[in-house]
Amino acid sequence: MQKQLLWFRQDLRIQDHTALWHAAQSGPVIALVILSPEQWRMHDDAPIKLDFYLRQIQAIQQELASIQIPLIIRTVPLWENIAAEIDQLCQKLDIENVHANIECGVNELNRDFQVQTQLNQSNRDLVLYHDRTLFPVGSIRNKSNQPYQVFGAFKKYCYEQLSISIPQCFPIPETQALNDAIDVGELNNNSLPTLAELGFIFNPNQINKQWQIGEQYALNVLDDFIENKVRHYQLERDFPQIEATSQLSAYLNIGILSIRQCFNALFRAQFGHFSIDHVGQQTWLDELLWREFYQHILFDFPRVSKHLPFKMPTQQLQWRDAPNDLSAWQTGQTGIPIVDAGMRQLLHTGWMHNRIRMVVAMFLTKNLLIDWRLGEQWFMQHLIDGDLAANNGGWQWCASTGTDSVPYFRIFNPISQSQKFDAQGDYIRQWVPELAHLDAKTIHEPYAKNPNIELNYPKPIVDLKQSRIRAIEAFKQI
Ligand SMILES: Cc1cc2nc3c(=O)[nH]c(=O)nc-3n(C[C@H](O)[C@H](O)[C@H](O)COP(=O)(O)OP(=O)(O)OC[C@H]3O[C@@H](n4cnc5c(N)ncnc54)[C@H](O)[C@@H]3O)c2cc1C
Repeated sequence: MQKQLLWFRQDLRIQDHTALWHAAQSGPVIALVILSPEQWRMHDDAPIKLDFYLRQIQAIQQELASIQIPLIIRTVPLWENIAAEIDQLCQKLDIENVHANIECGVNELNRDFQVQTQLNQSNRDLVLYHDRTLFPVGSIRNKSNQPYQVFGAFKKYCYEQLSISIPQCFPIPETQALNDAIDVGELNNNSLPTLAELGFIFNPNQINKQWQIGEQYALNVLDDFIENKVRHYQLERDFPQIEATSQLSAYLNIGILSIRQCFNALFRAQFGHFSIDHVGQQTWLDELLWREFYQHILFDFPRVSKHLPFKMPTQQLQWRDAPNDLSAWQTGQTGIPIVDAGMRQLLHTGWMHNRIRMVVAMFLTKNLLIDWRLGEQWFMQHLIDGDLAANNGGWQWCASTGTDSVPYFRIFNPISQSQKFDAQGDYIRQWVPELAHLDAKTIHEPYAKNPNIELNYPKPIVDLKQSRIRAIEAFKQI
C-alpha cells in the first residue's frame, strides 16, 4: 500500500476523524499541518484562538506519535502558497493521495481547488470528506431541491434523518508499524513556531480564563455537561452568571471535539436511539442544529462569506459612521452595564455568553445603528471560538439582515434583558467592578433614578428609546 498524507486543518483530533480514518485504510499515514499567518490575519483570527490552535497542535503531535504517525509542520504566508508546498512534499515523500476534511468558506474551497488542480497534474488526488457537520453540506434540500432558508424547516428535516440513525463515530486508526514507509527523515525535524514568531501578540496572563487543550479534556467536559448539566440547560442557559452551557464551542471550532461525539454523548442514555427524554436534551440538540444550519448556509449561500448580507436589500441600509460609539462598544464603555459587562467578558476571557452576544450585537446594530460587519470583525478578532459560519449567522440574525433573522422591529431592550437575565446584577458586578457596590435595582441603569450619582462609569452614550425608533425608521427606508 502506498503512503497517504493527512492534512489537518480545523480538525485537530485523532478520535472520530473521518479523513484520518479513511487515509489509514489506504496505506501508511504521514500527517501535515500548515500554518498560514498572513491568511489568519486577513481572516481576523484572534490571537487567543491561534494560541489555542498552536497548543493543540503540540497535543496532537503526541497523540499521533502514540500511533506512530509523524506530523510535519510547515509555515507559508498565505493559502495561495499551499498547493506548491503540498505538491513538493508529495513528491519528496512519494505520497499517493492527500486526505482532508471539507471546510465550507469560499476561500477554503478555493484553496482546496488549487491544491486539487496541482496534485492532479502528478496523478494524485486531494480526497475530501464530510466531517465538520453532521450531514454533508449541500445534501439537505427541500421538496423543490433547494437549500432550506428557515431554521424550523431545516431542523425538522434533521430530526427526520436523525430518527433513521445518528451518525456514528470513527475509531482511532490502529498503531502503524514502524518501517521505512513512514520515515520522513529530515522533513520531520521542524519544531512548532511560537505565536510571536508568527507575528501575533498574545499575553496569556491577561486572560483570566484557562482554556485547556487536549481531546481527553474536551471529552471530559462533554461528559460532565451531559451527566450533570444538560437536564437544566433549557431553564438556565440564558443566565450569564450560571455556568449552565457547555463552553465547548472553541473545541468544536478547531475540531478538538467532533459534532458526532456531541450527538453520541447526547443520546448515550438512550443507547444511541433518537429519543428525546427531556426538554434540556432537546434544547441543546437544537443549539447544535443551529451550528449545523449556519454551516450549511455558508456553503449554499457563499455571499455570506464575502461580507454580504443574506437579505440583499439590507445592503442599502444607511449605517452610521460613528467611530467613537464603536470604540465605546468595543472597550465596554457604553454606559449600558449589561453591554459593557459582555464586552469586557470577551476581552478578558475570549468568550461571551450567548444571551449577552445577542444583547451586545443588537445594541450595536440597532441602538447604535453601526454596520454588523464591524461587530462581526471585532468578535472574530477576540473570540476563542471565532467561527465564520456561526459568527456571521449570529451577527446577521441580530442585525435582521440574515436568513431567518429577528424581525427588524423586535429590538431587545438591553435594560430589560439585564433585569431579566441578570436580576441580581452579579454578572455586571463581576465584569464592571465600578458598579459592584450598587444594589440589584440600581445596577442595571445606574443613572436612571439619580442622574447626579458620582460613579467612575460613563453615562449612556445613546438614548435607548430614541435610538430604537431611529433603527426602525432606517429599516423602513429599504
Ligand atoms: C453575535 C453572535 C456571534 C456568535 N459567534 C459565534 C462564533 O464565532 N463561534 C461560535 O461557535 N458560536 C458563535 N455564536 C453562537 C453562540 O453564542 C456560541 O456558540 C455559544 O455561546 C458557545 O457557548 P457554549 O459552547 O457554551 O454553547 P452551548 O449553549 O453549550 O451550545 C452547544 C454548541 O452549539 C453551538 N451553538 C450554540 N448556539 C449556537 C448558535 N446560536 N449559533 C451557532 N452555533 C451555536 C456551539 O457550537 C456550541 O458550542 C454567536 C452568537 C451570536 C449571537
